[in-house]
Amino acid sequence: MPVQTAVLASGNKGKLEELDLLLAPMKFQLLPQSKYEITPASETGDSFVENALIKARHASRLTSLPAFADDSGLVVPSLDGAPGIYSARYAGPASSSQQNNLKLLEALSDSRSRHAYFYCVLVFLLHTHDPTPIVVSGEWHGRIAEEAKGDNGFGYDPIFIANDYEMTAAEMEPELKNRFSHRAIASANLIRSIQHRLEQQ
Ligand code: IMP
Repeated sequence: MPVQTAVLASGNKGKLEELDLLLAPMKFQLLPQSKYEITPASETGDSFVENALIKARHASRLTSLPAFADDSGLVVPSLDGAPGIYSARYAGPASSSQQNNLKLLEALSDSRSRHAYFYCVLVFLLHTHDPTPIVVSGEWHGRIAEEAKGDNGFGYDPIFIANDYEMTAAEMEPELKNRFSHRAIASANLIRSIQHRLEQQ
């Protein structure tokens, strides 16, 4: 596959670090949109997939490059899907991860189910009007811990315990998280889909 430059429509440091590793096999030179001083798109969609498409089209339009975008978050079914697409700002517009985590622990302080999953949509488009963007997703199921633990990762990692593990995602080594996470599954799906598309040419 030829090395080609593409813009990565995300400003989240934690996500950029993970995606850089996960998407490395694709031989794209991925440049974060901050390199182009792009103002992030307004995420006006009602779902992860709509927001990922908005972000990718916006970054591609402003750079005239192919674009990748990730939209992801935490979903708690017993809270009707919250924090969902509002994961980054669950406790308010400029909330920290710690404030978001505390708000979620409080919301689950009654006896409702603590089942939760991370959800990630990845989009790749060749240009801003690409009519056939590649859209894939990944899920990582587990439960919300009783208290925050661990210093690795970002966002809700300190309060998420993946199925089959007795530690939070923030207690995992990054290599372990990158093997099983929602973003790892979506990245593998994306690589497969792009390869499949190229093989048809
Ligand atoms: P986005 O930048 O609008 O996609 O916001 C995603 C938000 O979801 C992040 O700010 C985190 O709060 C949360 N999130 C997404 N992926 C992860 C993850 O792998 N670990 C922890 N939190 C995550």
